[in-house]
Amino acid sequence: MKTAAKNASIKTITTHYIDGAFVESHGREVMDIISPTNEQVIARAALADEEDTRRAIAAAKRAFATYGRSTTEERAKILRALHEAASARLDDLTAAMVEEYGGVVQFARPIVESGVNAFLAAEQALKEIPWTRRWNKTTVTLEPVGVAGLITAWNANTLFICLKLASAVGAGCTVVIKPSELSSLQTRVVVEALHEAGLPKGLFNVVTGLGSVVGAELVRNPDVAKISFTGSVAVGEGIMRDGAATMKRVTLELGGKSPTILLDDAALDQAIPAALIMAFLNSGQACAAGTRLLVPKSRLDEIKRGIRDAMKTFSVGDPADPKTAVGPMVSQKQYERVQSYIRKGIEEGAEVLVGGEGHPHGLETGYFVKPTVFVNVRNDMTIAQEEIFGPVLCVIAYGSEDEAVQIANDSRYGLHAAVIGTDLQRARRVAAQIRSGRVVINNVTDDPQAPWGGFKYSGVGREYGRYGIEAFLEPKAILES
Ligand code: NAD
Repeated sequence: MKTAAKNASIKTITTHYIDGAFVESHGREVMDIISPTNEQVIARAALADEEDTRRAIAAAKRAFATYGRSTTEERAKILRALHEAASARLDDLTAAMVEEYGGVVQFARPIVESGVNAFLAAEQALKEIPWTRRWNKTTVTLEPVGVAGLITAWNANTLFICLKLASAVGAGCTVVIKPSELSSLQTRVVVEALHEAGLPKGLFNVVTGLGSVVGAELVRNPDVAKISFTGSVAVGEGIMRDGAATMKRVTLELGGKSPTILLDDAALDQAIPAALIMAFLNSGQACAAGTRLLVPKSRLDEIKRGIRDAMKTFSVGDPADPKTAVGPMVSQKQYERVQSYIRKGIEEGAEVLVGGEGHPHGLETGYFVKPTVFVNVRNDMTIAQEEIFGPVLCVIAYGSEDEAVQIANDSRYGLHAAVIGTDLQRARRVAAQIRSGRVVINNVTDDPQAPWGGFKYSGVGREYGRYGIEAFLEPKAILES
């Protein structure tokens, strides 16, 4: 029953955030927001049109005239104020991610925290950037690129908004944010929180609408100098192509099909749970999810037994329950996408070790899928090559260390990877041969100053820390004769 939107008690978000104020949407189209946990309409949101987008760009352009000349001390103060404002709403931000997206609370909380902390990390990074360099009669300064359009995906919308905003503001840019239209409730909480920071008008503007409308206007508009995008390869390609007409600078954070290499000296009682956590991160709807597990043929049987046992602790269910490891998929469309890949895997001859098609027993309502592990997977199968963006793990057996590296790199993607083994020197040697933007050794770990981004089809450019800020800067040289 998805018609509950007619119920007057349902909240409708009718405003966007432009020039420091919540303003009524010029766009009249309204979208239902559906809970992925129970399929009920929980809110509605007005979608912005091109006119709303142009107003937001104009506000950002006016603000850039002043903010573009700000000092790093002023930017540091702004980043600190944003951090304090966002921190004050940590519980609400987490609750919105659980309610609207179905993110499991055990993952939603740290991901929101990581967004909130991105402001502090950017403040720290300001100190490491060589803003001015001089030699002989030459002076090189790093200048903000201009108005930036920030476009986010639905799987960690709050994190992406905070992270991109932190980097842009740190660089001295003003921004127009186009959040995922599937994240309108979460966006509302973030914007209410950030509004409390009391920033100069127009410094950040937020217009929620469709990618083909708001996103396309940002990409086409000559007053936008840079697009920082997180989303799919197909849309990323379009942004690069269409942005060329106005010579846009682009940062593209795209998909992944990340390998986890389990070396033959790994301690399986720790290695298997670590590998499964990486595979089912954010219910498998994570660009970095380690969805290809490469295991030594010599230990295949014991690894299969270990996976079967460990999967018992990966419970599916209510995302608000702290014990739940895997929540629902974000939408019916995403549910069907995951089902179609599970079917494809079976058709191509992979064997279902755990999970399979359909809803888990007792969870027929809501977009729940069975966390699924395939074995007997060859790396050239569709399920090993394409990003599924759901809790589906492919176990691929390898003979030698060299073969493991070759399989890991045999992918159009190169975002993230993991190496698990007891001999650290050996794990480092393997990590050094993997062509991806990040490799973690032995477990998921993070460093907010380390770059994030992809080789190959996983994207262009980097985020986080000074790398993230530098993506919003242009070097400028002044030479005296
Ligand atoms: P998507 O590409 O469908 O949408 C992403 C954003 O782009 C949304 O805000 C959407 O409205 C907008 N958009 C759509 N068409 C557009 C257009 N023509 N012009 C401008 N903007 C447009 O992706 P999604 O389904 O929201 O997210 C899932 C994808 O994101 C996956 O492929 C995943 O791997 C990727 N992702 C990457 C990272 C990373 O850091 N590399 C992180 C999270 C998600």
